[in-house]
Amino acid sequence: MIELKNVIKEYPNGITALKGIDLKIEQGEFIYIVGASGSGKSTLIKTLYREERVTSGIIKVNEYDLMRMKNSRVPYLRRELGVVFQDFRLLPRLTAYENVAYAMEVIEKRPEEIRTRVIEVLEMVGLKDKIRRYPNELSGGEQQRVAIARAITNKPSILIADEPTGNLDPDTSDEIMEILERINQQNTTVIMATHNQGIVDKYVHRVLTIRQGHLISDQEEGAYRYEA
Ligand code: ADP
Ligand code: ADP
Repeated sequence: MIELKNVIKEYPNGITALKGIDLKIEQGEFIYIVGASGSGKSTLIKTLYREERVTSGIIKVNEYDLMRMKNSRVPYLRRELGVVFQDFRLLPRLTAYENVAYAMEVIEKRPEEIRTRVIEVLEMVGLKDKIRRYPNELSGGEQQRVAIARAITNKPSILIADEPTGNLDPDTSDEIMEILERINQQNTTVIMATHNQGIVDKYVHRVLTIRQGHLISDQEEGAYRYEA
């Protein structure tokens, strides 16, 4: 479960990106975060995996109190989270297989377990026949599928996606959404920041709308409707 109470984030340059966010997310939900560019979506997402510390308020992710938590605990928090980005962020000199395996090697999983699991997740995202390809030999949609496989390989309870379809055409975006839906059906919480109205209105879930650092609406089975 995720809980935020009166969360404020002020950057060192004086910009207040989050101006008192209250929010509760239960395990297994699928949530969109929508809002204009600069409204605070990425900042909100970054606070969840402690890429950014909040200035004040309460922020809890699973058993972690992110305000009080020491930096040395951050790697443990991040084991419970998978994160994917608009620009994929794969390691260019590693194959699809190696990109996913690397995420397991760094937490010292056993080699046999890594081998089995990497094949399993790449198969789950439909890339079993391309495991030896390098990122620059894959299409954007295929790279995003590798990034998703990497994000879920350690079985996180929460998958965070910041504009995951931002660089993809509509058909490819649908393929990515179908994968995210499947992951969500296995009780993984999915939190997705997006500008993609077509997607939000087609795959109906809870929608949070952010405007200028305020949470201005929270709709169960929502639609995309932010006003700039
Ligand atoms: P969004 O993801 O909705 O486009 P952001 O969270 O990136 O919005 O940005 C919210 C506000 O915070 C914007 O005014 C942006 O310029 C500012 N901002 C974002 N990141 C930083 C940063 N690292 N330092 C200072 N200001 C930032
Ligand atoms: P996104 O919305 O996906 O974060 P941006 O282009 O807004 O992408 O930001 C790219 C990077 O620059 C991010 O790491 C963000 O924190 C940082 N950033 C954004 N706005 C500002 C700003 N006004 N001052 C300093 N850093 C910023």
